[in-house]
Amino acid sequence: MPEGDSYVHAAYAARPILLDEEIVAVEGSAPSIRRYSSRIVGSTVGEVRTYGKHLFVDLDSGYSVHVHLAMNGTLRVRSSGPVRPGPARLVLVTEQGIVTVSGTKDVEADRTPALDARVLEPLGPDLIADEFDWTDFERRARKAGPDISVADFLLDQRVMAGVGNVYKNEVAFLERLNPMQSIGTLEFERLRAMAERSRTLLRANRRPGKRVTTGDWRRSLWVYGREGRPCRRCGTTIRQTWFGAPEPRVTYWCPRCQPAD
Ligand SMILES: [Zn+2]
Repeated sequence: MPEGDSYVHAAYAARPILLDEEIVAVEGSAPSIRRYSSRIVGSTVGEVRTYGKHLFVDLDSGYSVHVHLAMNGTLRVRSSGPVRPGPARLVLVTEQGIVTVSGTKDVEADRTPALDARVLEPLGPDLIADEFDWTDFERRARKAGPDISVADFLLDQRVMAGVGNVYKNEVAFLERLNPMQSIGTLEFERLRAMAERSRTLLRANRRPGKRVTTGDWRRSLWVYGREGRPCRRCGTTIRQTWFGAPEPRVTYWCPRCQPAD
C-alpha cells in the first residue's frame, strides 16, 4: 500500500529519468494531462518532490504534474524501450527513459501554484520530511475533535501527512493504543507520541526495500496482515476488523497489548 515512504521511493526512482531533462513525449489517459500536453512536452523538469502521499513533477513551463497513488497505484521506471500507454494514467518520456503511472485515477496537471494551493494547503506537516512543524501539528490535532478514533486520527492527512493503513496499524500497536478508542480519552502527549512514532517509522523506511517496523526484516511487521497469528510481544491472537470513517479500512490489533479503554 502506498504510504509516505512509497512516495519518497518513487521520487528516488524517477529522478534519474526526469530531473533536468526535457519531456520529449507525454501519454496517458488522465484528462488534464491531455489538456495540458502542450505545456508538458518540450519543457524541462526542475524538480521531483514529495509531500505526504503526493508526488509532483515541476516543469519550467510553470506547470506541474501531480500524482497520488491512492490504494493500488504504481510508478514504474524504465531506462529504454517502446512507449506503450496501454491502461497507464501517465507516461513521461525523456532521453533517459520512461516513467509510467498506473492503477490510480489521481493524476493531473495544472499550473504549479494552483496545484500547490489545491493539494498541499489542506495537509498537515509532512511526517517524513527533515523538518516537522510541531506547532502546526498541535493546532491541527486539537481541531480534530474528541470523537475521532485513534485509527482515523492517524490516517487524517489534515493533521499530519504520510500515514497510510499499514503504518496506522503498526503505530497504534507500538503506542499500545486500541485503534477503535476515541482520542478524547487521551492526554495530548499521547497524540504527540503517535506523530513521533509515525515519523520515526516512516523516516526509517525512506530507503527503497522492504517496509520494516519491528527492526527485523525477517519478521517485518507487528500486526498488519497477521490476523489469527500470535502477537509477537505477548502471544495473544491478533484480531482483524473493518473499521473507520468515512471509509472502513482493515484494522489489526492485539486485544491484550491494545485493550479497549
Ligand atoms: Zn500482544
